[in-house]
Amino acid sequence: METIAERLKSIQITVEQSTLDAHRPSNSVKLLAVSKTKPVSDIVQAYEAGQRLFGENYVQEGVEKIQGLHTLDDIVWHFIGPIQSNKTRLVAEHFDWVQTIDRLKIAQRLNDQSSPDKKLNVCIQVNIDNDANKAGISAEDLSDFAKAISELPNLTLRGLMTIPKANQHQEQQSASFARMTALFKDLKKHYPAVDTLSMGMSGDMQNAINNGSTMVRVGTAIFGERN
Ligand SMILES: *Cc1c(COP(=O)(O)O)cnc(C)c1O
Repeated sequence: METIAERLKSIQITVEQSTLDAHRPSNSVKLLAVSKTKPVSDIVQAYEAGQRLFGENYVQEGVEKIQGLHTLDDIVWHFIGPIQSNKTRLVAEHFDWVQTIDRLKIAQRLNDQSSPDKKLNVCIQVNIDNDANKAGISAEDLSDFAKAISELPNLTLRGLMTIPKANQHQEQQSASFARMTALFKDLKKHYPAVDTLSMGMSGDMQNAINNGSTMVRVGTAIFGERN
């Protein structure tokens, strides 16, 4: 049985090797450790092994962990799950980033519940394969939606996030990731703070990095299978 520290180390090596294989600069891809359903003790193990970026999907569970770990105050917490409007305040108050913005109403609430001295970093979720089972806006709607988000003063638009359709062939999945990279590059031209293209999980991170990801979100490969 490998420890969390050992698995984390091996993922870091895979991320760096995939980055170099893609002829991209060393350390240009960040690793978000997705700790949903896992206990605080697992997060502490990853933290002690040097991990600082963590992602949670469920508001209540995430907030409890953030409060329990408040002494580890250099952790950067990313919210990566669906948000209901009655939960926006908790998200705005406790998380540093929200990667799943796809409704203006939710973004406006998060903006109202954040402040100029604690701005919330946000990514727009794009449904790149127009998959009926996935959240996110369509690529066609991105530029108008990004403009609306960028006008909210307490949010900082940092980039895009996607989850491609499951069970695609490798070439189709590569094409989806590459379309995201084109959208990301275009977005960067308009909004200077944009620096994050969040795509790739335990099963597809190499392909995502090869096609331009700047942040992979990895759960199972670090913490083991979820129940
Ligand atoms: C759970 C989750 C992940 C991590 O998935 P793994 O396959 O366990 O690496 C990444 N992104 C999102 C949005 C998730 O919900």
